[in-house]
Amino acid sequence: MTSRRRSSLRNGILTIVMASFAVLSLIYGVLLELVIDDYRESRIADHDRYTAIVRRNLTYELDHLMELSTNLSRPKDIVESIEESDSEVLSDWGKAFTKTVSSVVFTDLDGVVIARAPDEFRFADSLYSDIYFEEAGKKGFFLGIAPVDGRDSFVACRPVLKYDDVPVGYLIVSKTITSSFLEALLPQDNMKLTFSEDMGADLSREDSSSREAHRIIEVGGGFFSLDFLPSPEYRELLRLQNSLILAFLAVTGGSVFFLLYFLKKRFEPYTRMVEALVDYSERKTDLDGLLDVVSEISSGAYYEISYICEALKDMILVLKDKMENIQSYSDRLEYLANRDSLTGLWNRRKMDQILLSETERSSRYGASLSVVMVDIDHFKSVNDNFGHEVGDTVLSSIAALMKDCTRAGDSVGRWGGEEFLVVLPETDVKGALEYAERMRRAVECNVFEENVRVTSSFGVTQYRIGEPVNEFVARADEALYDAKENGRNRVEMR
Ligand code: GH3
Ligand code: MG
Ligand code: MG
Repeated sequence: MTSRRRSSLRNGILTIVMASFAVLSLIYGVLLELVIDDYRESRIADHDRYTAIVRRNLTYELDHLMELSTNLSRPKDIVESIEESDSEVLSDWGKAFTKTVSSVVFTDLDGVVIARAPDEFRFADSLYSDIYFEEAGKKGFFLGIAPVDGRDSFVACRPVLKYDDVPVGYLIVSKTITSSFLEALLPQDNMKLTFSEDMGADLSREDSSSREAHRIIEVGGGFFSLDFLPSPEYRELLRLQNSLILAFLAVTGGSVFFLLYFLKKRFEPYTRMVEALVDYSERKTDLDGLLDVVSEISSGAYYEISYICEALKDMILVLKDKMENIQSYSDRLEYLANRDSLTGLWNRRKMDQILLSETERSSRYGASLSVVMVDIDHFKSVNDNFGHEVGDTVLSSIAALMKDCTRAGDSVGRWGGEEFLVVLPETDVKGALEYAERMRRAVECNVFEENVRVTSSFGVTQYRIGEPVNEFVARADEALYDAKENGRNRVEMR
């Protein structure tokens, strides 16, 4: 009892602890999500600010190219050098500016390069088909992003004018967009700026989980993708949240598992009991089988089921006891119903049954069957001379004698007052006569109480296949009558 209470107390405490842990981790998870939301919102303002700075820096690069190209298109020296295709002078001019830009190129009106800085020995190639040159030809000016020598660059392309309105050639100033150049434009470490030709390609390129926020900046007809990498605090928060989710899942899963295990353990004995009862009702097991299961459950389980099974066990034991009583009463009743109370032999009723079954058997299998009818001679005088009690003793003694003389399959019964009938299966009339003779002598020789001696007469007959029982018995009776008529203490047959 103590251990039962202790184990249910332990289970209770364990359930409460696990449930509280699960609830607490859920609450903390929700709180953390709110904190993370707040953090994200506060970061959005930062992101907007930094995006503006980066946009301004990018625009500044274009403005710088614009300014530079304007300044370089003015000097008279440059205008004349283009007219004269003096690549040396132009190259010197260009080199003076390649510290802040990637290249300075001078072309004639057809786009054929006159001078290129810092690559001074590469000239005479045509830029006519380049986008910026085409655009500048159409609109009179180009400022934006375009490929220069196959690399994406900030480009300013403008005509060089003589007398302020006669074009003599073109000037192209460019700055290659390299990753180090983009990096230099960032105001903070945890950002990444990349150039992409179009906006869609950029969006699908990056995996959104590796960054905290993402912005697209459009400058000079090109798109720049600005990624804000997660800050250490943000990463720490996410890690904490993941741990909480894991802990919550583990505790909840553990609780569910424990609960299922607990329920299974708790209801297992009920299931076994019900199964045993069903087996009993379907006659698959008997009361002893049911008792075994119920006893086992009542000794093993720790819950109310053990009390139920204990009660059931008591009920079964009482039932078994009652059933044993009933059985012994019914055995006794059967004994009394079939026996003669004085001699203990089969009574007339039972002998009728035996005769019926034995004659049927004989008829079916053709086996021989005989009966011997016995009557004590002048028995009335025994009663008269020695008293009724002595008569009873004589009857009992003769019954015992007859039983001793018969084989296992033979049946001896008291047919009437001092008349007996012996049924001898598998015996023909010859065998029956021998038996009767043996019996006759045994009775004749026997000295009963108080020196009483009696003799008896015997009527013997064999069964004729198919005849009714009464005819069979009547013939034995007639044989007995013959024995009486012929002087008693003898055996007659019919
Ligand atoms: P018989 O040789 O012709 O058979 O003469 P008997 O006297 O034996 O025949 P009878 O039929 O005249 O008498 C039978 C007697 O048996 C009558 C009865 O008092 C006695 N008797 C019958 N049943 C019992 C019994 O259970 N106990 C005692 N003591 N006597 C019984
Ligand atoms: Mg008699
Ligand atoms: Mg008689």
